[in-house]
Amino acid sequence: MPGFELFGDLEREEVNDVLDNGVLMRYGFDGMRKGHWKAKALETELKNTFQSKHVQLVSSGTAAVSVALAAAGVGAGDEVIMPTFTFVASFEAIMMLGAIPVLVDIDDTLCLDPQAVEKAITPKTKAIMVVQMCGSMGDMDALRKVANAHKVLLVEDACQAIGGTYKGKPLGSIGDLGCFSFDFVKTITCGEGGAVVTNNHTYYTNADHFSDHGHDHVGNDRGAETHPFLGYNFRISELHAAVGLAQVKRLPEFLQIQNKNFNIIRDALSQIPEVTFRRVPKGGEESCAFLNFSLPNLEIATRVSKAFKENGVDVCWNYYNNNWHYIRKWHHLKDVKSLYPISEEVKKELSTLHERDFSKSDYHIGRNISCLIKLSWTEDDVKERAFKMVKIIKENL
Ligand SMILES: *Cc1c(COP(=O)(O)O)cnc(C)c1O
Repeated sequence: MPGFELFGDLEREEVNDVLDNGVLMRYGFDGMRKGHWKAKALETELKNTFQSKHVQLVSSGTAAVSVALAAAGVGAGDEVIMPTFTFVASFEAIMMLGAIPVLVDIDDTLCLDPQAVEKAITPKTKAIMVVQMCGSMGDMDALRKVANAHKVLLVEDACQAIGGTYKGKPLGSIGDLGCFSFDFVKTITCGEGGAVVTNNHTYYTNADHFSDHGHDHVGNDRGAETHPFLGYNFRISELHAAVGLAQVKRLPEFLQIQNKNFNIIRDALSQIPEVTFRRVPKGGEESCAFLNFSLPNLEIATRVSKAFKENGVDVCWNYYNNNWHYIRKWHHLKDVKSLYPISEEVKKELSTLHERDFSKSDYHIGRNISCLIKLSWTEDDVKERAFKMVKIIKENL
């Protein structure tokens, strides 16, 4: 997945443009910047990449989720449905706004289970947030149906699925709002950065103002601009945007390498009858940022995962006991270990997490092994890795 592996001259060139004029901020200073508008240029590129009318760059993927929800009016006391398998950023971004994260099971797509979502809807539900984990996607048609039936938003966190598609549409462009991360380990990187994408003009304008202290961005005198509503600072810098501008131009090349490496390993593993692969919804194309496969049970998956590590097969994980991606080890969330007071309604929902039955998620995550697909591997590296993986799996069944 990581674009950082192929950092090079193109990135340096774009950053040097910014260093040359010294305007490190994305807004204002028109006279000094010698025509360089890296954040604006990157937004234009991303509109094409993600086939969306509007793109707002922000400082991180986590910020993108908070800004997307805020832009659509989600806040204190509103419930946002999210999956048990994701990155901690999902509940962080929801709780930042005083909204209530409602965790529900995943299915064999490793993303939100539409039936579990339906069951979790209450009069307080404002949004369903599907997280397109490890390069693939949830059942988008089924999730859209639930969202429409209950008149709630469908938000897509596509941070890990840059370049994946569903029925020809880029992941992230299907929901009412989509969120991306360009942190250092994502498919394309800015160092730190993120984006909100939407076809809704109001949400876009809200995101544009909200991420810059409420600035309305009218005219060319920043100090004289008005602030129609409250905002925050989630701006991206020109330096970060410059890196992203070089990387986005290389995305087709990155995706091609990922796809090739992914298929070499997938083909090798598919010769083992006990190995199955995650379900990709019909019409979906994975970004190939990760290869996810399942073994018969948790015990075997744990054994294989350990043997991978001991034999030099790195960047493969079983997430069952992972601190960052799966609910079982999110003790800080379940115990509400917050530095500052949290509202009673959020605490009440979180207190249910100790008792809730997530056995369906446990079933899928327990058997799963998720392998990062790197860009820097040579073809020989990949073939050798695939051969080793097959051998280790067979020995540990
Ligand atoms: C990386 C990631 C984020 C957060 O992005 P940052 O830019 O690191 O804040 C959010 N959601 C998912 C699924 C991610 O993988």
